[in-house]
Amino acid sequence: MQAYTWADHRLFPTQEGALLFGVDHASLFALDSRARDTLGRWRSADPLALEDVPEEARGVLEELRDAQVLVPLVPHRRPRPAAVPELDPAGVPLETLVLEVAQTCNLRCSYCYAHGGTYGGTPRLLDPETARRAARTLLERSGDRRGVTLVLFGGEPLLNFPAVRAAVEEAEAAASAAGKELTLSLTTNGTLFTPEILAFLRDHRVLVSVSIDGPPELHDRNRPYSGGGGTYGDVTAGLAALAQWGIPAAARVTLAPRQWDRIPEVFDHLLGLGVREVGIAPASPVTPELLPTADQEEDLLRGFRTLAERFETEARQGRCLPFANLLDLLGRLHAGRAKGAPCGAGYGYLALDADGRYFLCHRLAGEEDFAAGDLETGPDLEKLRSALRAAAAPRRELCAHCWARRLCAGGCHYENHLRENLLGRAPGDSCRFIRPWLELGLRLYARLRAEPENPVMQRIARRQEC
Ligand code: SF4
Ligand code: SF4
Repeated sequence: MQAYTWADHRLFPTQEGALLFGVDHASLFALDSRARDTLGRWRSADPLALEDVPEEARGVLEELRDAQVLVPLVPHRRPRPAAVPELDPAGVPLETLVLEVAQTCNLRCSYCYAHGGTYGGTPRLLDPETARRAARTLLERSGDRRGVTLVLFGGEPLLNFPAVRAAVEEAEAAASAAGKELTLSLTTNGTLFTPEILAFLRDHRVLVSVSIDGPPELHDRNRPYSGGGGTYGDVTAGLAALAQWGIPAAARVTLAPRQWDRIPEVFDHLLGLGVREVGIAPASPVTPELLPTADQEEDLLRGFRTLAERFETEARQGRCLPFANLLDLLGRLHAGRAKGAPCGAGYGYLALDADGRYFLCHRLAGEEDFAAGDLETGPDLEKLRSALRAAAAPRRELCAHCWARRLCAGGCHYENHLRENLLGRAPGDSCRFIRPWLELGLRLYARLRAEPENPVMQRIARRQEC
């Protein structure tokens, strides 16, 4: 007789019954009240033999077995909370390369994590020849991947248009020779467009993200020019120019904790400027003043929840509210992949700085603990391994007991580095926001997927490939 035990799972009550989340496979099942009650009755039976279960309850338990929530008991080995598995970057082909094209900037944003674009060094530019080599390297190291992404980043990348042009043209030639799909993206402060640049971005189908933080008074406080003076007027003129040239732009917002109570207002302001999508990033705590209080974390969650409610209302009418954070989360949940790492950093995703050195990710450029080789010698696997291991170590135990571990896998390395290593916060400082946000996404996704024909659901399904 086969004995079964319960795999790690979590129940979220709903009006109809409950959502059952299988932790290790990041699987999600909607239970009606009968299934929920059956589960409630048998949950404490461990080990459990299905033959002992009365017929009227057995069907539900068999379905849970098929869903790997009830798993065969292996003698002498009791299941225990599993750590997020340690992945090895060896052999993972490169998928995304972020080029720090210009480590300098004409703005001085109040929350900048890159020290005014330089990442702590002297202001410098990537030379066009190195940009070309980097672009070729992305394709050469992409193995059997069908698609690759080149991200033009800074500082402000448009301070170095010759390198942008060189990297894009080389990547296109190499991708075409290799028969691969190439995605090009550029994140800019939106103040430096010229007709030549706009024509280039349009002709090469570069996906453009413009950093803009909301209404003039808020934006100008966050994002002044290096010489002083607000940038709102020039950035909105930049957005208008992009629209004129037929280039759809996404808005990338960064808000300090004291501004988190203005999230819906900021979102609406940016939609009113005609952007195709709005993504909202909480500012990283690069200084202790940017560490949020518990009330500010509540503001953040409340703001995101308000937008999620509006998203659902719109979705019921077949319309998509372009809130990028939520679309990304729903896309990930739809893909249904259990995470083995918080993000791609080190696993197919790398940044290259203006000196041709690799770093785990663009935000960690200049941090020696996260440096990993250079363009000349290639990514240093040993350094990647040790950086990833060191980054995960403080939260390994904490995450092993967390229901969200295969959706979150430890959180952003950079955020953790700031909070734990530089500001001395306890590991898991970000979890108070991460878990409720993931739960919100799970609940919304479970409701939306009941309408697979809804165009919003179809857009979410396509998003998983991003
Ligand atoms: S929410 Fe916190 S404890 Fe849970 S997996 Fe993420 S970092 Fe780890
Ligand atoms: S470490 Fe953080 S900033 Fe860097 S790629 Fe990962 S999630 Fe993004």
